[in-house]
Amino acid sequence: MAYDFDLYVIGAGSGGVRAARFAAGFGAKVAVAESRYLGGTCVNVGCVPKKLLVYGAHFAEDFEQASGFGWGLDEAQFDWPTLIANKDREINRLNGIYRNLLVNSGVTLHEGHAKIVDPHQVEINGERFTAKNILIATGGWPQIPEIPGHEHAISSNQAFFLKELPKRVLVVGGGYIAVEFAGIFHGLGAKTTLLYRGELFLRGFDGSVRKHLQEELTKRGMDLQFNADIERIDKQADGSLKVTLKDGRQLEADCVFYATGRRPMLDNLGLENTGVKLDRKGFVEVDELYQTAEPSILALGDVIGRVQLTPVALAEGMAVARRLFKPEQYRPVDYKMIPTAVFSLPNIGTVGLTEEEAREAGHEVQIFESRFRPMKLTLTECQERTLMKLVVDARTDKVLGCHMVGPEAGEIVQGLAIALKAGATKRDFDETIGVHPTAAEEFVTMRTPVAG
Ligand code: FAD
Ligand code: NDP
Repeated sequence: MAYDFDLYVIGAGSGGVRAARFAAGFGAKVAVAESRYLGGTCVNVGCVPKKLLVYGAHFAEDFEQASGFGWGLDEAQFDWPTLIANKDREINRLNGIYRNLLVNSGVTLHEGHAKIVDPHQVEINGERFTAKNILIATGGWPQIPEIPGHEHAISSNQAFFLKELPKRVLVVGGGYIAVEFAGIFHGLGAKTTLLYRGELFLRGFDGSVRKHLQEELTKRGMDLQFNADIERIDKQADGSLKVTLKDGRQLEADCVFYATGRRPMLDNLGLENTGVKLDRKGFVEVDELYQTAEPSILALGDVIGRVQLTPVALAEGMAVARRLFKPEQYRPVDYKMIPTAVFSLPNIGTVGLTEEEAREAGHEVQIFESRFRPMKLTLTECQERTLMKLVVDARTDKVLGCHMVGPEAGEIVQGLAIALKAGATKRDFDETIGVHPTAAEEFVTMRTPVAG
């Protein structure tokens, strides 16, 4: 049967755009549907605007530290509406770039909500289109627990568009988004409390990293409350929020921001018209080729709940496009050694196994750790310390993991990820000449293990 399209992609986010563009480039007839914003979460309410706000927040410490280098500044003033307006302008520009990328690569763009009506058919804006394959790339959506008063809380979706900077913010959660936004609000001058239900935030990250960041954020005056969870939120007559914790304590805030994970975006997608199955957590279940239980339907990115990172969605999009339309170039996505950064202030950068994971996996480990005051701060009052850590397999000398908390950790760990992927040993690190004077050189000068 002749279809309208070879591939119909639902969702023009990181993964969908990548798959659509490359599939079209390989000669396929491709359409992509987008209901909200071109570029998806990352461009509109994720990585990009978040990083711009992190840059904004960083200026606070730059101004503070400048006096140590002889700069005299009048009191710095911050204007939230200016930052948000400039951010919005940049995001609009990026939306335009995404539109051009798609159109110039020959992809047909349908703007509206797409619903699957049968395994080979999609309905959008009252029209139906047939496709040999349908790709679900609909991403995720913030998930807020339904406690009494949850309607008074915001998520990252709203945080990017607040009309003014709240004076007192309560951030709930202990993952990437909570830690990053707590840093943004705190840096920009809001009185910020981070509330996490467990013992220590950033579960899954290396223990030294979690502890080090806790110490650094505390030094900066952020209020970290662990083993704490909200029971209810009540709006008061003056518009502020009264937050009652499960242990009975009460806190006041002007904004309660939940960053408690993301669910797959499957709303009104029509999966009931297909044989697509969901996994235990409600994400779309796929095999190693991103194939769902319905033979003509594939899925990738946040909606499959594997690794919720833009570069992973991009790699999956590329893999799907190649497998379908350029099989001779197909290479599976390698989920090992995915580097990642948390853009907290200071940043976390990490790649490979944590010490805990390495021990759990049965490695005999050697740990190298270095903590130091970054050179830039020696002329300032700032007491911030950087942490660098290597997890090494004592038997093979292979470096299993690199972890850092400190300025530009994300930038530094990208290069280290290449070394780890290539199988670098500690000896390779030792024999690499450092770049002096940098913080990164510390990664090639750690000689004495702190633990075995
Ligand atoms: P998305 O980018 O979410 O795209 C899905 C698209 O599908 C959306 O545009 C949506 O509107 C559209 N859609 C949904 N349903 C339909 C429908 N029925 N019809 C038509 N269109 C539909 N990752 C990083 O790597 N680094 C970071 O620094 C980072 N920061 C982040 C910060 C925040 C606050 C958040 C929320 C996420 C962040 N991420 C980051 C994660 C990253 O944004 C996601 O992993 C990535 O966007 C996933 O891409 P995707 O293609 O799967 O989905
Ligand atoms: P995460 O899954 O990273 O963290 C969710 C946090 O919320 C955890 O600390 C979790 O606690 C806590 N939590 C979950 N449910 C509840 C609940 N009912 N009550 C209280 N606390 C709860 O999700 P995020 O929302 O932070 O981010 C989503 C994903 O987006 C990330 O995992 C990441 O993949 C991606 N992202 C990447 C970024 C980057 O690369 N820099 C930045 C931002 C997002 P517990 O640990 O106890 O389960």
